[in-house]
Amino acid sequence: MTTFTDESAKLFSGRFLLPHEIAPWIAAQQFGAMPANHTVLHHTWSPTYDQWSGRSTLDGIFAYYRRDRGWPAGVGPHFWVAPRERGGPLGVWIGTHPRHDGIHVAGFNHRSLGIETAWNGDAAPFTPAVEAVLRTLVFALSSRLGIPLRWTHAKAPGLSLHRWWASKSCPGTKNTDVRMAAAMLPQKPPMPPPLPPPVPDPPQEDPMADPEVLAMLKSINANMEAMAADLRLMKDRVHLGVREGGFQRCMANAYAAANTARLAELADDARRANVPTGFEQV
Ligand SMILES: [Zn+2]
Repeated sequence: MTTFTDESAKLFSGRFLLPHEIAPWIAAQQFGAMPANHTVLHHTWSPTYDQWSGRSTLDGIFAYYRRDRGWPAGVGPHFWVAPRERGGPLGVWIGTHPRHDGIHVAGFNHRSLGIETAWNGDAAPFTPAVEAVLRTLVFALSSRLGIPLRWTHAKAPGLSLHRWWASKSCPGTKNTDVRMAAAMLPQKPPMPPPLPPPVPDPPQEDPMADPEVLAMLKSINANMEAMAADLRLMKDRVHLGVREGGFQRCMANAYAAANTARLAELADDARRANVPTGFEQV
């Protein structure tokens, strides 16, 4: 993995990034106190994808801006989705460094980033491969700068197409608004492979056949029987207690009755002997 450093001191970059290098490069850049908050998509119309031959094409375009349009040197659109060389891998060329205002939409160049694609969108829509690189770039900028992934016709944070700002077809009549909106949506992750058919569980050994288990069950049964016997004994004792309780109540009553009679006798004796007893009545 290439490690990138901040290159924002340069107005013009001229660097080429393969798709996997786009996010790391953008993450390493400084964007200043007033970073871009809007992204505009373009097509070049000319040169086409097939005509793009690499750095020389990029330099030729910026020379044309300088010479024929009188723009400041190194100032133009920021990004160019194009092949590294003719027939080479697709990626992103950096024109004007994205920290700096470029020139790509009349009247809306402050804090807006221009993404060109080497393509004639009036002849054919972007291919899925081109759209994938565009998505990678737009998402990386969104992530680094907090640009919302929201289409807007206003000069507000979000995304737009060049034709919304000018009487042009850019990025091409074949790249319709609906098509571009779909192309910039986060892609659905691929479906996971289908699950294999269910496999029945292997037959389990009968746990009851295990002698250890059998011994344990026997021991549990014996304990339960002993507990049941204890319960029966306790129940019998409770019944006996109730019976004994009844007997004791009888004895207590008899004892109380006998004492009452004896007290009465003593009281009578005391009265006859004129002995004060305190037992006036029983
Ligand atoms: Zn344009």
